[in-house]
Formats: sequence, C-alpha cells, structure tokens
Amino acid sequence: MLKTFKSSLLLFIYLLSASITFLQADAHIFVYHRFGDARHPSTNTSLAELRKEFNYFKNNGYKVVKLETLVNALKEGKEIPDNWVVLTIDDNFKSFYTKGYPIFKEFGYPFTIFLYLEATAKKYKDYTSFAQLRKMDKRLASFEFHSYGHKHMASMSEKAIRADFDKGLALFEKELNVRPKYFVYPYGEYNEKLERISKEYGFEAIFNQNMGAVAKGTNIYDIDRSALVGKPKLKTYLNFDELQDYELIEPKTFPKNGVLIRVKARVDKNAKNAYVYIRGHGWRPVKVKDGIIDYKTSKTIKGKRMKVGIQVGTKLKVKVFMKD
Ligand SMILES: [Zn+2]
Repeated sequence: MLKTFKSSLLLFIYLLSASITFLQADAHIFVYHRFGDARHPSTNTSLAELRKEFNYFKNNGYKVVKLETLVNALKEGKEIPDNWVVLTIDDNFKSFYTKGYPIFKEFGYPFTIFLYLEATAKKYKDYTSFAQLRKMDKRLASFEFHSYGHKHMASMSEKAIRADFDKGLALFEKELNVRPKYFVYPYGEYNEKLERISKEYGFEAIFNQNMGAVAKGTNIYDIDRSALVGKPKLKTYLNFDELQDYELIEPKTFPKNGVLIRVKARVDKNAKNAYVYIRGHGWRPVKVKDGIIDYKTSKTIKGKRMKVGIQVGTKLKVKVFMKD
C-alpha cells in the first residue's frame, strides 16, 4: 500500500481487513482514448486533468514504465512493484497526437497505442496518420494491435475474425515495419472463441478493459486496464489490488432471459464485508458468511455485455460475460 492512500471509505475497509490481507504488490495499467476533445465526454480526458494525473504520479513515487516491462516481469514470474504505472491509448485518435502527446513528452512518460488500423488506412477525420505515428519519439512510443475494423468481434464468425486479423496485421507490418505482440479487444468484449483465436495468432499478452490491477500470477491473456476518462477516482484505482484467491460460482454465463438474479462467490473465509458490482447498477455492499458471498437480486442487463465484480478490502476482480 502507498502512504498517500486517502480514500476514507476504502481505508476503513482496508483497516477492517488488514489483519487477513497478505501483502500483495500490484501495478496498474490505465487506458486513455481522446485528449482535450470535449465533443466526446465519455472517452475524453481534458489536458488539465491529464496534467493533474501526471503530476500525481510524479509527486507520489509512481514510476511510469513501458507496457513491455510489465509484461516481461509477468512472464518471468517476478514480483510486480506496487508503484508501477503503465499508460496505454486506444484508437489512435488525432487528439492524442496534437494534444496529449506533447504532455507525455514533457513528462517523459512512455506509452503504447493500440491501433485501429482501418481508421488510419482510410484517413478517417479524427484519426492519426501513419506518417504521424512513425514520427513519434521511439524512446516513448510503442504500437500494438486493436484490430483492423474495430467491430464487436465476440459476435463475429471465426472466419470473419481471422479475416480481420489477417488484414490488420499485414497492414500493421507494412506501415510500421514491426509485428505487434499484444492485442486489445475492441470495446473490451471477448469470449472463449475470440481469446482462442487471438492466442493462435501468437499474441504474447491480451488486455481487456476491466477495472483492476496486475500482480504476480495475473493471467497474461486477460490483463486488466482501468479507463481514465473525465475526472476519474485515480487514487482509488491506484490502490486496487487484484483479487486472485476467489471463485465466482454464479454467474457462469450471460443470463438467458437477460436478468441477473444471483451473484455467488467464494472469497477469503475471514472476510466479513465485500462489494458486488454489476455494470449499469454500480457497487453494492454485501455480507460475507463463512467465506461465501450470496447476493440475490433482479437486474436487467442492457446490451450484449455483462460485467460482474467482487471487491474484498482493496482487492478487486471484474469479469465480462457476453451474450451468445
Ligand atoms: Zn477501441
């Protein structure tokens, strides 16, 4: 834990569970989309906010490391330092190049852009060109794969997924002269089929868009990233640890009738209190009895993606379930 921990609610929960929480060190990966672009509030970070976040990292002992540094440490089974932060940017928007990038350079912070290739290839108005990508400082910039067409890939056929990967990877190599090693699912949507095909294409690590943390033992094909948009609770995010020692008993799949009626999980048997998260419905406090959370509810899940999370103390894990 870092000494700057200020969120009083979380601190209270932490103190309650401190005696049963073993020391765990976790890095945090953040994802940004647009910068200084108020037309799109749900994906935007203002430049004042970006500066505030970077100053917070700088003044509180955080070290912004390359994504590759973190992935390699995970692959080698090393302990992950608590003060590591990794910055990623999805979707190669032009506002990163024109507005965000100068601030990254000023702080000397490395970053990884996950490329949506079709947007750049077809010169969509809001997107960075290949020439601009190539012009970025090689000491800071790295580029990875976010698909060719940025479609809802979990619901595509196997053939269509492969066609997207083939086209996107060929274009990536032609324009940037390197083969990407990492993949981010468009919209953070994935299922077993998409994960299997992604692995077959040889990606060394795959990232989602679930709030969370990265620790020794994190599944390298399902790495959490927390989105920073608007005015995020940065300190809370930085203090999350990954909940690894738990089992989600229910749900196992997206509910057939679209209504989630129960969240059941096995957690630390000494835990007394926890939180259950359902996307669209927020967090709810729950009691833990003999290591079991059994939350009965009736929540209609909008859309094709259901996210369910469990938090015990500062430890958190969110899972995604896709409608078939
Ligand atoms: Zn995206």
